[in-house]
Amino acid sequence: MHSILREWREVGVRTINDKEWASRSLKLALWNPRLCGWRKHNGELVRDANGVPVVGRWEPIITPKEWMAIDAIFSARVGPNVKSDGTVTDYRTPSYLLTGILRCGKPREDGQICNSPLRATARADLSGGYLYQCPSKEMGGCGGTGRNGAKIDEFITGAVLAKLEARAARATRADELWGGEEEPARLMAKQRKLLQAWQEDQVSDELFFPENQKMEARVKELRADRTRHVLRRQRAAEVTGDVRERWTSGRLDLAQKRALIREALHAVIVLPAGGGGRRPFNPDLLVPKWRD
Ligand SMILES: [Zn+2]
Repeated sequence: MHSILREWREVGVRTINDKEWASRSLKLALWNPRLCGWRKHNGELVRDANGVPVVGRWEPIITPKEWMAIDAIFSARVGPNVKSDGTVTDYRTPSYLLTGILRCGKPREDGQICNSPLRATARADLSGGYLYQCPSKEMGGCGGTGRNGAKIDEFITGAVLAKLEARAARATRADELWGGEEEPARLMAKQRKLLQAWQEDQVSDELFFPENQKMEARVKELRADRTRHVLRRQRAAEVTGDVRERWTSGRLDLAQKRALIREALHAVIVLPAGGGGRRPFNPDLLVPKWRD
């Protein structure tokens, strides 16, 4: 902070109100999540229903990762999760793997499922030590579903890894199978022929221009299709390449694991079993909503 301030003073960088930067104003500016496209309201990041910060429509100047690093530094200075003004922040990733991903599948009176995101609670009496459960009615849920956290995590992790591996394999095969390479070349040859015929007055303007335009559009479409295809494949490889190895190596933190899970599925509906997580674990009562 000190060296930034000194440098800015030397080169004459001033605040938007044309004042000299001070330690406090610099800290406030750097600590503002707007820098990375996020926003705070009443001291909390504005988030969607899944807890993901909502991205604003202005151009960020740093990445969320960079801002989180700044945030971690400043937060550490005032003690864990407590800001200088005394508010407790919760910018961190939830400390359980499937928070916000599991949804309560218990039917409500109207026949629809409850669908509330399950919350994780530490529970010393359960193997694994935590429970995912539907929040109480006062908290917006039905309170009717609870399941052993460690067992769900383990089962869903296995299913997600299998899904991502299958997707990576399919992406590789799809690349081999993509047969669009020849069509643009054939079309362009046809287009040249038509051009030549038109230049030699064998084809009228009325016939040439619409036909030529149609062929151009088709070539463009095919090229775009090829680009999409390549990007999709790259993305699949990036996201899922060696996913099991990365997962088990211990190099992924919880946020990265949660991101991979979200790549694979939208949500997991947890059908009620009763027993507050003490019944034998039954994976048939978990219904993953896969992304295609
Ligand atoms: Zn519920």
